[in-house]
Amino acid sequence: MDLYDEEQLTRDYFDFLRFRSISADPEYGGEMRACADWVAKYLEESGLQVEQWETPGYPVVAGKWMGAEGKPTLLLYGHYDVQPVDPLDEWESDPFEPTVRGRDVFARGAQDNKGQILYAMAAIRALMKRDGKLPINVKVCIEGEEESKSVGFSKVLEERKEQLQADYLVAPDFDIPAADRPSIVLGLRGLVALTVDLRGSKHDLHSGMAGGIVYNPNHALVEMLAALRNEEGQVVVPGFYDDVEMLSDEERDLLTLDLGDEQLYREEFEAEANGGEADLPPGESARARPTLEINGISGGYSGPGFKTVIPAQAQAKISCRLVPHQDHAKIRDAIVKFLEERCPKGMEMTVTDHGGAGAMRASVKGPLVDALAKAYEEVFGKECVRTLSGGSVPITQQLARVAGAEAVFMGTGLMSDAIHAPNEHFNLDRQRLGFQVFARFLELL
Ligand SMILES: [Zn+2]
Repeated sequence: MDLYDEEQLTRDYFDFLRFRSISADPEYGGEMRACADWVAKYLEESGLQVEQWETPGYPVVAGKWMGAEGKPTLLLYGHYDVQPVDPLDEWESDPFEPTVRGRDVFARGAQDNKGQILYAMAAIRALMKRDGKLPINVKVCIEGEEESKSVGFSKVLEERKEQLQADYLVAPDFDIPAADRPSIVLGLRGLVALTVDLRGSKHDLHSGMAGGIVYNPNHALVEMLAALRNEEGQVVVPGFYDDVEMLSDEERDLLTLDLGDEQLYREEFEAEANGGEADLPPGESARARPTLEINGISGGYSGPGFKTVIPAQAQAKISCRLVPHQDHAKIRDAIVKFLEERCPKGMEMTVTDHGGAGAMRASVKGPLVDALAKAYEEVFGKECVRTLSGGSVPITQQLARVAGAEAVFMGTGLMSDAIHAPNEHFNLDRQRLGFQVFARFLELL
């Protein structure tokens, strides 16, 4: 019996896509809950035990099937909420009425994440239907606020710790570099995000009167920020690299970190790939090393014309991407101390911590990664690339920690699927590939 039933999957897919499950807009609260009920029912009918966990926000749909005694437990994570649809007039069809053009399905959530999580759910359902059981134990956790910083889910994680315990975690929410180039993501970087405010006087001052008397906060700020990095692109904050481990030889062998960044950035963004550490290739700088970036600077007058002013205050937004073993609080404190030591006398500095997460990295070889890579290779007939992402998805990083699980990210999305943008779409053939990879992965694991 063929496991894959496109007609059935497409019917379910379209039902799922029709819910206006926009977590950011309270107007859609009813649709959010109806969508959670739909997911719960789908999992229940597949033979899983299902609960909905209330949170301060929207419910988390949690399902499990624990009938494979002595076998490992896989936790599947996804989300049923979607991004808002504006600008609506740029959509060629109704974002909540799935429309097929060629083999592409256009709708909000078509790929992120309904299209991807559904192929994994459908694979579980198909295996249960065929065999009456699954090859391993499976827990499913589908939340409703991933697009709104997981505000509800992150609050109930700790109290659900027991129920979340798993050996492995997989989140089908990622892209592959090309439709015929399978890849899996073994790691994410952590994040520190800070706002630094400097205040030098009660209000803005006249630069003719006060220039030469008071220390200009804009000058102080750029001097402090400039001191953070040297000309080699390294962060000079004491202790910043203390806990960083260089890639092992095995990791260097098995990971593909050069994803054609130099060419991509030149062609797509007209940008030169020279922002990393001087002695490292950009792919390694961006995926396996920590960074510090100034994301925004403001202070004084920048409107039309000119205003001779010494501003009362200046502000910068700074973020760091972290690699495994670097601690969020330790790095934050080191940066704050470094800046404080350079803050001119009499000037007041305040720092706001916007939260963040530690980095996460799966072993480059082992049951989890090997099973997933083999599943991709069998289904695609191509070698599967093992890589790291430079980005951060704080909720999965917290979830993996609480669940005690080794985590990887998979997917069959493409950058061109226009997620978060008008005319988001997903391809039915890539949905089938995702289904086949996930089903085979369960068998191999
Ligand atoms: Zn998204």
